[in-house]
Amino acid sequence: MKLRRDSAFRPDLRVRADFPLLVNNPDLHYLDSAATSQKPKVVLDALRDFYETANANPHRGAYSLSVRATEYYHLARVRIAQFLGVRDSDCLIFTRGTTEGVNLVAGSWGEANVLRGDEIVVTAMDHHANFVPWQILAMKKGAKFRICELTPDGRIDLGHFSGLLNDRTKIVAFNHVSNALGTINPIAEIIRLVREKTDAITVCDGAQSAPHFPVSFDSLGVDFYAFSGHKMLGPMGIGGLIGKREMLEEMPPYQTGGDMIEFVYDDRTTWNVLPHKFEAGTPNAANAVGLAAAVEYLDRIGMDRVLSHERALMSAAQKRLAAIEGLRIYGPPASERSGVVSFTMTDVHPHDLATILDGEGVCIRAGHHCAQPLMRRLDVPATARASFYVYNDESDIDALVSGIMKAREIFGYVPA
Ligand code: PMP
Repeated sequence: MKLRRDSAFRPDLRVRADFPLLVNNPDLHYLDSAATSQKPKVVLDALRDFYETANANPHRGAYSLSVRATEYYHLARVRIAQFLGVRDSDCLIFTRGTTEGVNLVAGSWGEANVLRGDEIVVTAMDHHANFVPWQILAMKKGAKFRICELTPDGRIDLGHFSGLLNDRTKIVAFNHVSNALGTINPIAEIIRLVREKTDAITVCDGAQSAPHFPVSFDSLGVDFYAFSGHKMLGPMGIGGLIGKREMLEEMPPYQTGGDMIEFVYDDRTTWNVLPHKFEAGTPNAANAVGLAAAVEYLDRIGMDRVLSHERALMSAAQKRLAAIEGLRIYGPPASERSGVVSFTMTDVHPHDLATILDGEGVCIRAGHHCAQPLMRRLDVPATARASFYVYNDESDIDALVSGIMKAREIFGYVPA
């Protein structure tokens, strides 16, 4: 079968050669970057360089190698803070990723401030990582857990959102971009409503925004922003939580142990300054250095260019997929979403589709995408999800579409 090409589609970004895994697998079509991204050689080199030239425990030794490790770790923080528009780099706490960042706010600010009768607002499109910690906190504290509903095309229903906010609202949590639908949420409007109607803190899950378009924490207006390095070309096991200094200063530590203390007496302990107060134990310095190399790589491409590349891929993919009979796409139009497309097909279960695509060398995700409350509202147990990043091109869309057509043939789709 001849595949239709979109003649308007001209992405100029050609960086596949920078990614060893993709070079080693020339027939692989990796369309699961919303789960985790592939790593460019510069990131792998930075990890190796740290271990070969600077490896020692940061902040510990009085010898020059440990000082070097400390400097590497410090400079990585400064570099990543700069990338995410944080002037005060001590307000960037390294975590394992978004999940740990949200749990840090829930376990520290939430434990200290939420009282019986208070209210916590999340949205129906939140990832479990920005849903369950708040649900548990609310249950523990006797607070009300309130869920903002979505519009039929998968956006936050701002009317419903506004109606949920009141003077008992203590925490409002939402994602910047939905991992399951790709919806880019209107942060400025959300913040405006929260400020107008409450004194609540805002917690933004940036797992799917930091990798895909320019983000400036200082102008975003949220109180906390969590992100994951592995989704933005960096290593697994490193990410961050950015917070406003006055809040981080007031918050109690999340975990206790080495490095986060100032003085330990027999009967009490005092805390180190930011960011150390929230980084108990030996830090993941090598991975922080790897993530700094990743953001330098993204900066060299330019985040505006990353966005326009993904938009071009997205609109081409969405057009091609929409033309397939029996295929249903969820979420807003391509112009209002990041590089994620979620869909189902009549008569082909998403898991079967993913298995058939895997046989064609196409990696997509099938499942609930850690967003079961959303799946329930979409009235599906699972969707298939293709997601794009800097290394994808039109051949990946061709392979996706041709794999879907093959699945249709195998499952003998008969139009209703
Ligand atoms: N939030 C969103 C929107 C995500 O896509 C993810 C990762 N799938 C997470 C949170 C959790 O990120 P991590 O597993 O890196 O902590």
